[in-house]
Amino acid sequence: MSVKRIGIFGSTGSIGTQALEVIAANKNLFCASILTAQNNHELLIKQAVEFKPDVVVIGDEKKYALVKEALANTNVKVMAGEHAIEEAAGMDCYDMMLAAIVGYAGLKPTLKAIDAAKPIALANKETLVVAGEIVMQKAVEKNVGIIPVDSEHSAIFQCLVGEGKNKIEKIILTASGGPFRGKKPNFLVNVKRDHALQHPNWSMGAKITIDSATLMNKGLEMIEAKWLFNLKPEQIQVVIHPQSIIHSMIMFEDGSIKAQMGLPDMKLPIQYAMAFPYRIENNFPRYDFRKPDTLNFEEPDVKTFRNLILATNALVQGGNMPCILNAANEIAVFAFLRNRIGFLDITEMVERTINKIPFIANPTLEELFVSDGEARNFAASLVEL
Ligand code: NAD
Ligand code: MG
Repeated sequence: MSVKRIGIFGSTGSIGTQALEVIAANKNLFCASILTAQNNHELLIKQAVEFKPDVVVIGDEKKYALVKEALANTNVKVMAGEHAIEEAAGMDCYDMMLAAIVGYAGLKPTLKAIDAAKPIALANKETLVVAGEIVMQKAVEKNVGIIPVDSEHSAIFQCLVGEGKNKIEKIILTASGGPFRGKKPNFLVNVKRDHALQHPNWSMGAKITIDSATLMNKGLEMIEAKWLFNLKPEQIQVVIHPQSIIHSMIMFEDGSIKAQMGLPDMKLPIQYAMAFPYRIENNFPRYDFRKPDTLNFEEPDVKTFRNLILATNALVQGGNMPCILNAANEIAVFAFLRNRIGFLDITEMVERTINKIPFIANPTLEELFVSDGEARNFAASLVEL
């Protein structure tokens, strides 16, 4: 295998930095040829000095001069701004995109990469939530592989290897339940940002950590799974598994269940996606069945964590509903992280936005952009940001 040039879009985030650890440990297999970040110019500069990419992009244009100056004595091309991130996605200097930008902002660069026929290692689940049908169609047209990085979807993907056209009865997405598993609304009403940011099993970016606490993350993942694996809503089941050892499972039509397991460590699905179809050796800690540890499973408490119902409804309704759900959720999580709204208000804001923005059954990409904007504006109007 020749050295694969990875374009890391969102290199300063939780996924991006772990991907760079994988690259650093496997220099014979990978290099980082594009790095992009929104704000964190200091880390971006440090990464550029260490990994010597062809191109770096800083989203915040005000920081262009700082990055340019710091990299003046290198061969790294420096670009800035939202459009430059998209432009970089269309460049020749990389072989695979690691889509690790958070939120809706990841959609356009990913579409651009697919247009340029680049395979995608997809962490940015919001891309498929917002425009799954369009993204997957384009990937088929361009004959581009979309390989999931999200641990649950990586698990399903790994379980499918060797199954050819064997029929899936259902998939079982596991969820840790987050820091508030077992809690009720009378507790959740007083929950603050710092408590919600403490995930029991995974260390992740702020947005997905809050989504895990509200169970919206699992809702978004159901929609992501629908598009990745071409499933009907009723084929997607969610089960709470607090230990996060089984990353997800498939039940085939003969009732046989395949699971992918391991200690929770995102570097594993990241390296699997980057190296696919190969597995590569590593020294990550191993799960040991001899150590007494019970694996538990329970039904999600959807009465308390209503986001899971809202997301399931959006999944069933389709059209622009998941896009509206996602936009409202991004605004609500942003407001919660700034202590502007309470934990339970997140669901309230999403629900009110879903009920407000007009439904479109078969939206074009442009219509999705409009729905996203409308949903954001409406959700923001519910709280003074
Ligand atoms: P993060 O917040 O740690 O990092 C986000 C990255 O995106 C940063 O590099 C940031 O500079 C960049 N970014 C943020 N806003 C941007 C914008 N408007 N335009 C361009 N770039 C922008 O997030 P993360 O936890 O690494 O998650 C990244 C994606 O991967 C998310 O979609 C998340 O759902 C998904 N994911 C993450 C994990 C995890 O363990 N962190 C697991 C599964 C899936
Ligand atoms: Mg996940």
